[in-house]
Amino acid sequence: MTTNELMKSRLKYNRPSLRARARPPKNRTPLGEAFSAANLGRSLKLQYCIDCNRFQYPSQEVCQACLKDNLVWREAVGTGHIISQTALFHSLWEFFKRRTSQKPWPVATVALDQGPIVFTHLDVEAFDDGKMLHVSEKTQVKVFSHYDCSMRSILITTTKETDTQTRETRQQIVARMGLSKPAFRDGGI
Ligand SMILES: [Zn+2]
Repeated sequence: MTTNELMKSRLKYNRPSLRARARPPKNRTPLGEAFSAANLGRSLKLQYCIDCNRFQYPSQEVCQACLKDNLVWREAVGTGHIISQTALFHSLWEFFKRRTSQKPWPVATVALDQGPIVFTHLDVEAFDDGKMLHVSEKTQVKVFSHYDCSMRSILITTTKETDTQTRETRQQIVARMGLSKPAFRDGGI
């Protein structure tokens, strides 16, 4: 391999836009990595302050209420209601750029019954086959975590009736949303 070819191959590795297979962002803070580890194979685990008996999100070094570090990862229920939902038409990240070139990418902010407000991907297909006719700000939903194809935990909102009990059912939803495979340069999923 000539130096020129070597530099070209390195460039491909460094520039996501040149990769045949783009993946979702995988860089996380140490707390984000801890969140991914805690949620691996779980439906939803959030930071919980033992002293205040409250969940918090996003993950922090200390409790946002009492500023103590008496925090543990605890299983959360995940039920809540939509605060707002929208769709992204453009992204600076190659993986989502390729996705949004096919159709807008839906996202939602959800207030969990157990307190925290989370920003999530929205599983629109689960709502009236994607028509979202009956989705409003008060719609009751369910949030769960799963790993994407970069092996990092992400949050997904679906209907409260959707079965998310097992890892297999959660995996099916993630696969249907196109998050379990890289996005290809030709636009194919
Ligand atoms: Zn606290």
